[in-house]
Amino acid sequence: MKNWVFILIFCTPLSYALAKNIVLTIDDFPMGDGPLYSLEERTDLYLKALEKQDCSAVFFCIGSHCKEEISLSCLSKLSDKGHEIANHSMNHWHLSSITLKDFEKEIKETENLLKPYSTFKKWFRYPFLDYGNQFLLGGSTRKTVQGFELLKHLQYKDAYVTINTFDWHLNERLKKSIAQGRQVNYDKLKEVYLSLINDWTDFYLELFDTHLKKEFTHTFLLHANDLNALYLEDILVLLKAKGLNFVKGEEAFEKNELSKLVSPSQRTQLMSKKPKTLDIKAIDEILEKGNVFTR
Ligand SMILES: [Zn+2]
Repeated sequence: MKNWVFILIFCTPLSYALAKNIVLTIDDFPMGDGPLYSLEERTDLYLKALEKQDCSAVFFCIGSHCKEEISLSCLSKLSDKGHEIANHSMNHWHLSSITLKDFEKEIKETENLLKPYSTFKKWFRYPFLDYGNQFLLGGSTRKTVQGFELLKHLQYKDAYVTINTFDWHLNERLKKSIAQGRQVNYDKLKEVYLSLINDWTDFYLELFDTHLKKEFTHTFLLHANDLNALYLEDILVLLKAKGLNFVKGEEAFEKNELSKLVSPSQRTQLMSKKPKTLDIKAIDEILEKGNVFTR
């Protein structure tokens, strides 16, 4: 399906509200080779899509993935093109299940690996968006507060997310289907994925509009995987057509207008509200109904 058809279908009246600033963030970089693309091919595809759409992105990196030569050369490519590089911890552990001392080590060791890159920024994206308050994993409200204090002490900004996605689950389904030798209908996969991106974006924009009633810079979460190497440009086209204006990470994380409108705990509470389709079972049903993966 052509992009304009998506635009026609998805641009509801809500989408024509005032233009909103948004930062594209891509987590878990650099992820190793996937079934469709190598790390290098994927990086080149992201760069091509970003250049074509004149967008900048912030890549949140996992330190333990940034040790091999190929990873370092991909990081250089991103940085040379002006994309920002930021901290996503060393081992991608849940804050709830580790000590604050380990949390500090996770941040500092990753910083040492990333700071040679000219576009490195002291912005931290919590792995799994776990702010340390997941009780079942050993977290507590106190730990969340201590985590924020530690970030501040280390002169880091919290790289908040306002538009969450489950792109990672669609990518897992794609990987599994390829491994099982199933047929992938890529036109249908694109249709389903963009439709979900559209639903998720509308949901969060409306959620924040309703509760905060003020403009601020949104942040959009994707992950460094094959799925986004396939469709990043389509996502950017779709979001732009919805009136979203891509800006650099500074607009969100340095100015952080959001923190003036809502406290981190209120924000976490707000983000606990989810669109119905931001759910593994719901996505599986949609993929099934759309005949995306067949025998
Ligand atoms: Zn992550």
